[in-house]
Amino acid sequence: MLVDTHCHTNFKIFKSKVAEVIDRAHQARVDQLVVVGSDLKNSRLAVRQAKQFDEIKAAVGVHPHHVWRFLEKARQQSRLTGEELDELKLSILDEVKQQLIDLIKDNPNQVVAIGEVGFDRHFYEKTQYETLEITDQYMSWQRAFFLMQAELAHDYDLALIIHNREAVDDLLEAFSTRNDLILPQKTVFHCCEPSKKLFDFAQKHQFFIGVDGDVTYDVAKQEFIQKVPLEMLVLETDSPYLLPEPERSQKQGLRFRERAAEPKHVRVVAEFVANLKAVSLDQVAATTTANAKKLFNL
Ligand SMILES: [Zn+2]
Ligand SMILES: [Zn+2]
Repeated sequence: MLVDTHCHTNFKIFKSKVAEVIDRAHQARVDQLVVVGSDLKNSRLAVRQAKQFDEIKAAVGVHPHHVWRFLEKARQQSRLTGEELDELKLSILDEVKQQLIDLIKDNPNQVVAIGEVGFDRHFYEKTQYETLEITDQYMSWQRAFFLMQAELAHDYDLALIIHNREAVDDLLEAFSTRNDLILPQKTVFHCCEPSKKLFDFAQKHQFFIGVDGDVTYDVAKQEFIQKVPLEMLVLETDSPYLLPEPERSQKQGLRFRERAAEPKHVRVVAEFVANLKAVSLDQVAATTTANAKKLFNL
């Protein structure tokens, strides 16, 4: 059995297709999915899918990219002074926190994690936020959202799914000031960047490292994952993103809808990791599934 520890069947592209996606996953021996939220709306949908399908557990949280929406909204409340904006930040954080707490408390059998949360300095060419800019102010909002949500994982004994893109130092700095939020065996660096700093931190604090379909074509990731012990790895697809090879090449030029990854592709990731590490697929499956169960208390 394999677990897709990070997928987004709560995204629009999978609308009304979740049952068939789960069927295809089963055919590839992928029997359990963790569906991850990136904003409040799709966090709620993740929980709803977890209620509907035994195979699904949910993670709830606000992704750093979507923190921008809250900052923009606050700014639009026209000409606030710095102080007023800070006050508004606190009240927005409080409101988001309360909504997440409601989701957690109302759905104890569905919600297994807070996620995905963290830091993101990447410049996205395609984004719904036309005015998005990586500023100090935006990073301080990302930090506030991250800490608030990491506290929830701590307080409610949930796993923590961390998203980091080009922001390793922001992430490690946040932990250095709040080491009470370091949760051994309950935290994953999802789609982990090939960074020695991240690896060392993960090893020291018994965090898991998520490996995705991009390992099939990204040489830096291949070298990185080769060095990560199987005992630290969990498998994920981040579907609909990160379609692995060889399908990635075969479907080049098709519309996104036609080249979307699915949870079944975790099987491809598992096979690739087995080859990379020269171990059997069974061994990869057994170890990473045990890791996923430990991480999410499945
Ligand atoms: Zn992510
Ligand atoms: Zn994701």
